[in-house]
Amino acid sequence: MPDAVLRAMHRAAPNIYAGELTEMMPGLVTDLKRVARTDHHVAMYIGNGHAAWEASLSNVLQPGDRVLVPATGRFGLGWGQMARSLGLEVDIIDFGRQSPMDMDRIAEALKADTGHQIKAVLAVHVDTATSIRNNIAALRAVLDDVDHPALLMADCIASLGCDVFEMGAWGVDVMVTGCQKGLMVPPGMAFVFFNDRAEAARARLPRVSWYWDWSPRAHPEEFFQYHGGTAPTHHLYGLRTALTMIHDEGIEQVWARHMLLARAVWAACEAWSTAGTFGMNVADPANRSCAVTALRLQSPHATELRNWVEQELGLTLGIGLGMAEPGDPARDGFFRLGHMGHTNGHMIMGLLGGIEAGMRAMKIEHGPGALEAAADVIAGA
Ligand SMILES: *Cc1c(COP(=O)(O)O)cnc(C)c1O
Repeated sequence: MPDAVLRAMHRAAPNIYAGELTEMMPGLVTDLKRVARTDHHVAMYIGNGHAAWEASLSNVLQPGDRVLVPATGRFGLGWGQMARSLGLEVDIIDFGRQSPMDMDRIAEALKADTGHQIKAVLAVHVDTATSIRNNIAALRAVLDDVDHPALLMADCIASLGCDVFEMGAWGVDVMVTGCQKGLMVPPGMAFVFFNDRAEAARARLPRVSWYWDWSPRAHPEEFFQYHGGTAPTHHLYGLRTALTMIHDEGIEQVWARHMLLARAVWAACEAWSTAGTFGMNVADPANRSCAVTALRLQSPHATELRNWVEQELGLTLGIGLGMAEPGDPARDGFFRLGHMGHTNGHMIMGLLGGIEAGMRAMKIEHGPGALEAAADVIAGA
């Protein structure tokens, strides 16, 4: 999170009926859509990513409808669980924790659905637990090839503003995200982007709850309708600043920065891996996210390393998420690096240097040359 975002939020309560806050909204809508690369619509909610999941499903599906969930880690399964809790029939194709979606298997499942019972495909762009990045454009091509009318819904909660994402060009009908990852604002706002096809699906539903209904939020006649009640006042100021920072840098440059920094992280991890005990979860760089990297060490070294760098260096690494069941000692063999949002080369070198120091302190076996390899990437050598 940039200090500028936090500073923008640090202010007295604004007027919530008129003035600056209300005048800010059209520009926020435009700039959010520029990050998502869509000309269509966006609805905002006070909530987290789970709220965006429920909001998106509530607007285009009704109990009894079938959805297809190609899962590549924890978050696809979570969106599926949310769908089931709303009374939807959920077909899961689980690709495990180390591989991206296999488009041939998805094509088969869609072809087998000759009666078009499947109303939507729920696809996670970047699974934050496994750090797998899926090819959403290829998924659209599969739907088109087999001529299946299901809506394409994408979870970009981890990836938006980090990994390249083109909602319009890739034919995504509904996209969900939150404000607290690539958008660099404290947790508390969720966004659902949708195109005209998804809006038509909304119009066919007999009812949508007043709170989740995206129509008044996307097409408000009065200011309070943007947020279904009181606006998330200070978050809006933070978001305004974050979007200005993103567009001042340029979204393509934001993506390029994340790619460069991710390549530096991977170069270090590959060097550490040569000792055999350290490993990256995703083998093929083409399937890796630029926002987060999931790693493994022999248990319990991952937990030992996290504890040491947190206590000694004030560096917080991510826990392994969804990689082993609670109570399984294997859980202490997983950890993750977050490199999303307001990051630069200096921060990434600090992260990698901290891990190197931690592995030396804990006598965890690792290959040499990691920091040099990362520095070479950042130097463009
Ligand atoms: C973080 C995340 C979520 C959940 O978001 P919350 O804000 O924790 O509810 C869902 N999907 C993905 C891909 C995420 O990274």
